[in-house]
Order: sequence, then C-alpha cells, then structure tokens
Amino acid sequence: MSSGTDWDTNAVEYSGDIAVNGDETPPVGIESPEDVYFLPHSIEGDLKIVNAEYVFADVPTGDTVDDPTPETEITGSLEDAYYQPHGVAGDAILVNPEDVFIAQDAVEGQLQVVGDEQRFYDDQASPQFPYAQLDETVVGWQQSATVTEPRVGAAVSGYDSSLTIEEAEHDLDVYVLGSEHEVRVTSQVGRELSVNAFFVGTNNTVSAGPYVDVTVANESGTDNTATQDTFPVDRLIEQTETDAYSEAGFGRAQVTYQQSADTDDEYCPNCGCVDVTIIERRQRDAFFAFGSPVYTYDDGGVSYECEECSPRGSPKMQLTPDERRELFSWSELATADDDITPVTPVRSRAVIPGAHSSGLTGLLYLGWTFSPFRHCQ
Ligand SMILES: [Zn+2]
Repeated sequence: MSSGTDWDTNAVEYSGDIAVNGDETPPVGIESPEDVYFLPHSIEGDLKIVNAEYVFADVPTGDTVDDPTPETEITGSLEDAYYQPHGVAGDAILVNPEDVFIAQDAVEGQLQVVGDEQRFYDDQASPQFPYAQLDETVVGWQQSATVTEPRVGAAVSGYDSSLTIEEAEHDLDVYVLGSEHEVRVTSQVGRELSVNAFFVGTNNTVSAGPYVDVTVANESGTDNTATQDTFPVDRLIEQTETDAYSEAGFGRAQVTYQQSADTDDEYCPNCGCVDVTIIERRQRDAFFAFGSPVYTYDDGGVSYECEECSPRGSPKMQLTPDERRELFSWSELATADDDITPVTPVRSRAVIPGAHSSGLTGLLYLGWTFSPFRHCQ
C-alpha cells in the first residue's frame, strides 16, 4: 500500500461507480478507482491524494497532510468515484486513482497531492455564486439536462454530459468539472448577456448563441473551448434586393435593400468592430418592370452596418425604470465631456432609415467609441 497505512481493518469491497455521500465513517480511504470527482464542499476535513495520474485542481494543493488511518476503506474493482457535497464529514485519503478533478471549495481543511503525473491549477477568477445556489447541477457519466430561464448559472461534473441552457436573461456562471462535456447557452430573443465559463478538466466546450458573450473566466485544465455563434446575417436584413424590386411595381421608383457585405475588411467600416457580421445597405433609383430594374438613374452608393451598430442587431430588451434613469443620467454626463464628443460621428445609426430603436441604443454607445478598431465582444 503506497500510502503506508494499514487499510485492512474495515475494508469494504465495491465494484463500478461509487458515490461518497456522507454515510461512511471518516476518515474515508478509497483505493484504485478510475476517475475521481470532488464536488464543492465534499471533504469537510483534510484530503490527501497519492499517486494520481492527472490532477485538475480548482484549489491550491500545496499543503502537508498526515496520512489518516481510514475508518472506512473502499476498495474492489472500482470505476469512477464521485464525492458529493458533504460526502466526507472528516478527513479522506485517495490512493492510486487515475485522473482527479477537484472543484472550487471542495476541501475545507488542508489538501496535499503527492506523486501525481501532471497537475493543472489556475486562479484567475472564482464563480460568483456558490454551487448550492446554481439553477442546475448535473453529475455523472453521459447525463443530459436542460435548464430554462436560469437565474445564476449551472454546473456539470463527470464525463461526457450535455447541458442545455435556454431562454437565459441574466448573466450566468457555467462551471464545468471533468472532461468531454458540452454546454450550450442561448438567450431569450434579443436579450444580451454574458457567460463566465469555469473549466476544471479537459476537452470541454461551452458554446453560446447570438447575443451571448462567453468568456473563459478560469481554466484549471487544458484543451477547453468557449465559442460564440456567428451573428445570423438574416436578422440584420429588413428587405432583400428581390423583395425590394418586386415591391417597386412598374415605373420609376427608389428602393432600398440590404445584403451580406461584400467586403474583405475584418472590421465594420461604420463602427470599427472586428469579428462581426456585416451587411451593406444599398439604394437604387430606377425604372422597374416585372420585378427588375430596366434603367438605373442613380445607384445610390453603399453604406455598412454590423451586428453591433445595426438597430436590428441591438437587443430588444425592456429597460426597467431604474435602468432607463441610469442610462439617461449617464449619457448626459457623456455628451457633456469634451473628450468624448469628437468621436461620436463614428456612429451613424441615428440617421439610418428604419432605425426605430436607435435613439436609446445610440446613446448607450457614446462612451466607448474611442478606438478605430474596437473588438466589441
Ligand atoms: Zn458596425
């Protein structure tokens, strides 16, 4: 026994996956499981991990812990082990596991890891909300769950599970522990929000729909990805070229239409945002017959807009009275500032035909149009 302790007094043999959920008398020792997951607040005392393969720890691991002599020893032909919240009401020791995943706040006492092959730890950021307050917590192997209109966030732990978050309207934390998980976040139509993804493990993905900005807040692991869908160009187009011509009838008419932008620029020519979906607005003064222009008087030129500066790209959210008050008092300050005023022509949305909602959102943007190449995400 590599821990050097005598484990044979109260040995219990199990096979398959095990969940440690507080029924075992501490100290609890587990020997030779496959992958092991420590959920938040699972170990109420100290934890020692001996001879693991990879360790993905969302907590510091540099303490020193004396080998406890287990009162409960779990052995046998074990597969994965899940330490649930409050799973061990005291100390614990884990010997010869394969990969180990340790969540934020998993260990209330000291934690020592010895003899591991490789360790991953990062402490850039912590989730805003405790695990117990999350709207959904998925635990296990190839599980799936859907959560609708979450308030604060969700977590998935284990291996190869899928979590779908729909109709979100608030900023969210997404906590991912383990490997091969897929999390998908979409918002209520037009509702703009941010997702902070926290990864503890490897090969996980959090993907987000339009309007949902997703950021990797912390990664105690490797090969995890957070992606956001390209903004669908159709949402920016009020009227296609074909529709505009067919509505023109017979005779001379001036039509406007929008189409996907034919530009090699990586930034929006109108507002300077990079990595955005861009459309071009075109005008044509022509003589029409049977749905086609047969003679063009004026080709009208082209102007551009993108998901960030188009009135159709902005979220159609209802502002509360407080939000509205805050917005207007802030924008008055912004326009009174000499440093800000000269850059406002960057935004031309206020004169775009059909920009019904541009007044409010235009004000919103006054303050941060300084850089010609804004990233905007
Ligand atoms: Zn733009």
